[in-house]
Amino acid sequence: MLTGCRNLPWTILSLTCRRVCTRGSSISPSALCSPASTVSHIPPSLPSPTHSHSFLTSRQTSVPPHPSVHFSSARSLSHSTQFWGPMELKEVLQVLEQLAPLSLAESWDNVGLLVEPSKSRPVKSILLTNDLTDAVMQEAETMSCDLIISYHPPLFRPIKRLVQKDWKQRLAIQAVEAGIAIFSPHTSWDSVKGGVNDWLVGGLGSGQVSVLSQALGGASHCHKLEFTVRSAEELTAVMEELKACDGGTTPQLSVSRPDNSGIHVSVTCSDSALTPSVHALLRHTTPSQSLSILKLEKPPLPGHGQGRLSVLDQPVTVATAIQKMKSHLGLSHLRLALGWGQTLESPVRTAAVCAGSGASVLTGVKADLYITGEMSHHEVLDAVSKGTTVLLSDHSNSERGFLAVFRERLAVRVPDSVTVVVSKADRDPLEVV
Ligand SMILES: [Zn+2]
Repeated sequence: MLTGCRNLPWTILSLTCRRVCTRGSSISPSALCSPASTVSHIPPSLPSPTHSHSFLTSRQTSVPPHPSVHFSSARSLSHSTQFWGPMELKEVLQVLEQLAPLSLAESWDNVGLLVEPSKSRPVKSILLTNDLTDAVMQEAETMSCDLIISYHPPLFRPIKRLVQKDWKQRLAIQAVEAGIAIFSPHTSWDSVKGGVNDWLVGGLGSGQVSVLSQALGGASHCHKLEFTVRSAEELTAVMEELKACDGGTTPQLSVSRPDNSGIHVSVTCSDSALTPSVHALLRHTTPSQSLSILKLEKPPLPGHGQGRLSVLDQPVTVATAIQKMKSHLGLSHLRLALGWGQTLESPVRTAAVCAGSGASVLTGVKADLYITGEMSHHEVLDAVSKGTTVLLSDHSNSERGFLAVFRERLAVRVPDSVTVVVSKADRDPLEVV
């Protein structure tokens, strides 16, 4: 019988342990994975080729302004504010953003604050759950919970009404009436370095871990305009016009030393500012004749993204991998499909994982072993035919164990007066009988 994560520690956090709130501190995505990490700052731009007298679309790397901070540990942040009272909801949201930026979520996802009660009240009690079900809502109301963090978003598709006959709408109404806020991180937790997928692959032991589907940084300025002006006066005039095109924001500017052909200028602009900026430059003779437009590429965010591949430091047999994952997930049973030509004694040197329903990320990945929550019959057959062994845990059993890990990370970043607990009622709807 599947036991879900019933063996996880549910204990309410000790209120005697002194903790320091990190309100106001700026922490990068990497902070989640390593309590003592330094985030290297990505250089502001890469050298760009010059394309004169043409409208070119090229691909370059645009690097967003990511915070570059040293995050030693929540307990030892010297610049943090010591804070012992309850937290406002917006302050909790700031901490959650520091732990896993919502920008890491997939574009199709529905993450962040999903339900916000009209009367704000201090957050004294936070309940972590994989899914928000009737049983979990009952638990939340019984414990006078102020904020539910539901890994899966209980509201996903657009809704046109709020009625009782739809169970998700009913729960949302119930939350509003009880004054309980609901937040969902979903794929931002999957993607972030040290998040759900790193936790999942860690069940097999240490290894060289890489990301299967790389996360990319967002870039507000995604176009580069290169052109020439004849004089400093013309440059000043042009730049004033470009500034007006981008909502009054001064464009990032790079200027070369003047030569016989003039001053070579390079500026970046946002998507919305591209057309008006080009129109502005076309009003000037020399810039219009020398203008090149380059599309800037989003940079990869190392360590962040969907799915993980681990080259194990210590290869194991399939049988050992099964035992390790049962222990890691707190399950008595897993489903196994041995790869073609494999046995329980075959070696597992590489393992690809994706929490939840992982086929879309795992398909085509060369590995000895796939680990995910669920795959369809035909997806399993495809993997097996390539000699890849598949281990399935049922969907949420591949995710739920991370809640206990996250609870520890959140608990040290909120005041003592805020309790953070993992739901006891939350469980996978399927069990082996
Ligand atoms: Zn899932």
